[in-house]
Amino acid sequence: MPAVELKNLRKSFGDNLIVKGVDLAVEPGEFLVMVGPSGCGKTTLLRLIAGLEQADAGDIFIEGSRVNDVAPRDRDVAMVFQSYALYPHLTVRENLAFSLTLRKASKASVDARVQEVAAMLELSELLERKPKALSGGQRQRVAMGRAIVRQPKVFLFDEPLSNLDTALRVQMRGELARLHQRMRTTMIYVTHDQVEAMTLATRVAVFNKGALQQLGAPLELYNRPANQFVAQFLGSPSMNVLDAQREGGMLRGEGFELSAPADLQSTGALRVGLRPQDLRVAEQGPLTGTVDAVERLGFDGFAFVRMNQALLAARFDGDQQVKVGDTVHLAPLGDALHVFTADGSSAVRAPPRSPGA
Ligand code: ATP
Repeated sequence: MPAVELKNLRKSFGDNLIVKGVDLAVEPGEFLVMVGPSGCGKTTLLRLIAGLEQADAGDIFIEGSRVNDVAPRDRDVAMVFQSYALYPHLTVRENLAFSLTLRKASKASVDARVQEVAAMLELSELLERKPKALSGGQRQRVAMGRAIVRQPKVFLFDEPLSNLDTALRVQMRGELARLHQRMRTTMIYVTHDQVEAMTLATRVAVFNKGALQQLGAPLELYNRPANQFVAQFLGSPSMNVLDAQREGGMLRGEGFELSAPADLQSTGALRVGLRPQDLRVAEQGPLTGTVDAVERLGFDGFAFVRMNQALLAARFDGDQQVKVGDTVHLAPLGDALHVFTADGSSAVRAPPRSPGA
């Protein structure tokens, strides 16, 4: 039985349909990460699961029970927000204990639970402090602790790390991964940070405009995106996509031609996709353009190359001389070509990579 199941879930605000019939089953113990551009409805989905918004149509199940009409406090989910709203006048201990005390748990059991969670989150030394005497990361750990003490069926995280600086975010990301490994509680996590998605998720759900685009393991989505949107949403820089026409064994577009992969069945108008990591600045290559910008990252970097209307990102090695204004050639690495339908709505070919490659 899924931990959380959404069936044809719909939600509008006024005339705007924000969640457009979402079907999604979250497995028990899973760390499901929802990603998508700003405004695509991720937070709204979490709020629907938590009961903070009412669905217009469709069903929400938690561990098999339909909860559409169940009050938020009775759904047994805990939500952690980006803004960690701690009670400023209460100590860390009192903040952690708050929800249990409200539920009239015995003092001994509250104390024991608070000690256990504080130890798990390395907050034991800070229990008598007030929130203002904590760092951002410590405050966020207290906010998570407040959710954890309740032992909910499901945790809902809404961009919990986005207010932290980069170093702290990396540290908290590791802590969250360890926490999930230890607790094995179902987690649904919203972020716009694809590194968080790729590193934390057991599965990633990519949304666009209120609709689920693809659901799968992080590398599966990266290697075999279902459509152009997913292909370009995951990966940095974004995948290069060009219009092309299949003519016999060739794929021809404005100013270039590439050999069609032997396994490509589709003909006519298509789109081809090449990840910047799979496209190299080279002595020779089927794509030619002028360097518009250079991002040197250390031992290698990316060149952004203008080819007619397109701006292509391609990788170069540290010892290659690449300057703005240079005319360069670009060569795809091996069998790296993705191919999409002419409108980008579905992939018709992905490069044959072994899983985990
Ligand atoms: P972000 O990454 O920016 O947080 P999101 O994917 O979480 O975006 P939502 O917060 O779910 O997006 O919002 C989706 C859309 O619904 C937005 O256009 C937003 O303005 C709109 N919206 C959200 N809540 C309400 C509301 N209570 N009333 C009206 N419109 C709303």
